[in-house]
Amino acid sequence: MNNYQIKTVITLGPASDSEQTIKKFAAGGASIFRLNFSHNTPDYFGRLIDMINDINARLNKHVSILLDLPGPKIRTGNPIGGKLELLEGETYSLGPDCQIPVSRQILSELPSKGGIKLADGKLELKIIDKLKGKLVVRAMNSGTLLDRQSINSQGLLYERSYPTKNDKAAISFGLKKGITSFALSFVSRKKDVTKVRDIVGEDIVLVSKIERREALRNFKEIAIASDAIMIARGDLGLNIDIAEVPLVQRKLIRASNQLRRPVITATQMLESMTTNVMPTRAEVNDVFNSVYEGSDAVMLSEETAIGAYPLRAFEMLKRITWKSQYFDDPQEHRESGPHEALVGAAAYIILSAGVKNVVFLTRGGAGPINLSRYHTNARIFALTDKKNVLDKLNIARGVEPFYFENLDTGVRKFIDGAGRRFGIKGTTLVIRSTVEHGPANSLELISI
Ligand code: PGA
Ligand code: MN
Repeated sequence: MNNYQIKTVITLGPASDSEQTIKKFAAGGASIFRLNFSHNTPDYFGRLIDMINDINARLNKHVSILLDLPGPKIRTGNPIGGKLELLEGETYSLGPDCQIPVSRQILSELPSKGGIKLADGKLELKIIDKLKGKLVVRAMNSGTLLDRQSINSQGLLYERSYPTKNDKAAISFGLKKGITSFALSFVSRKKDVTKVRDIVGEDIVLVSKIERREALRNFKEIAIASDAIMIARGDLGLNIDIAEVPLVQRKLIRASNQLRRPVITATQMLESMTTNVMPTRAEVNDVFNSVYEGSDAVMLSEETAIGAYPLRAFEMLKRITWKSQYFDDPQEHRESGPHEALVGAAAYIILSAGVKNVVFLTRGGAGPINLSRYHTNARIFALTDKKNVLDKLNIARGVEPFYFENLDTGVRKFIDGAGRRFGIKGTTLVIRSTVEHGPANSLELISI
């Protein structure tokens, strides 16, 4: 029986954009395909979206598509000749039309002393002097600067409007293609989320990526305005002290669990598998612990987008999360209110009666997400009559969403159809919670 509780997010790219590979991810139980709009063109992603829709239809699956918006990430321009070999100790010019090209706007925001990190920290520069129209910098290590690399410095303001022009174009492209979930990069405050919400409407799933210091300060209100959270450790590790990342990860996972927002832990989870067939021991530990700390989902980025072993990385991720899900203890949540009481009672019944399968009738999806936080390891089949809720439920640990037009007859139909396919047998808990914002209506133990 296949009971993967932990969700996997697969970033697609040149290493994984063939129909054959995408099909293997879908058949292997991937929950979400991430399309990273920081790279590649709408045309490219348009083709991928069509391909995924087609594969979903043929495999009778609902693997979600998460369109990841670039956000106000600041990048360098294209160095003359397409690349620049930086040598440790040498000095270079940085500014418009300089060796290291950046816009006038970025130059004006950079301080006159301190450090600059390029290419997600792979290259470090020290600011030597601020002259008219340029900075003089010293390379602290050798390496190659390519086109459009990230640039980070304490001084950069990021006070650019949110969403950016690029983001807006990607949102309207996505909506036209039927995309129903978006990831928001570099949010700083609640308003960044609500401004996107105003464009896309209530029914679209918004995943806020936490990768800026400001977002940590404003985390709670950002989370409440969002449907789910991604701990984007790549940029986060540049924007805060890298030694603090594990602590921040734990706090964010715990807070997301408490706020009932599914949480994805992302970036460099199996980084070495970009070039190797096996991960490092430290990476295996990281994936295992991220799940143990309460992540609903874990994500692969370069491993699957540009790596040499995309499918092996996915299989490895599943093997580790599988071990972790069974090591994990059920969680307690003592919150009051009629809805909490019924979901809490459901968790108690699952654990004490050894229930393996739950059929949860839901409208807005809050109930199954709430129950998933108890980490009972029962499979939660969530039946909803709202298509947009499927994507939200796809992120939540242990929840397998299904669309049913008529929920009143849905349970029987589900058990006779998909239920048989999934091997649902024995004592099964049926939860009806179809009154939006109201209490769960009923719990029923049935025998199949
Ligand atoms: P990215 O986001 O891959 O879009 O940069 C993830 C991260 O920063 O960790
Ligand atoms: Mn990022």
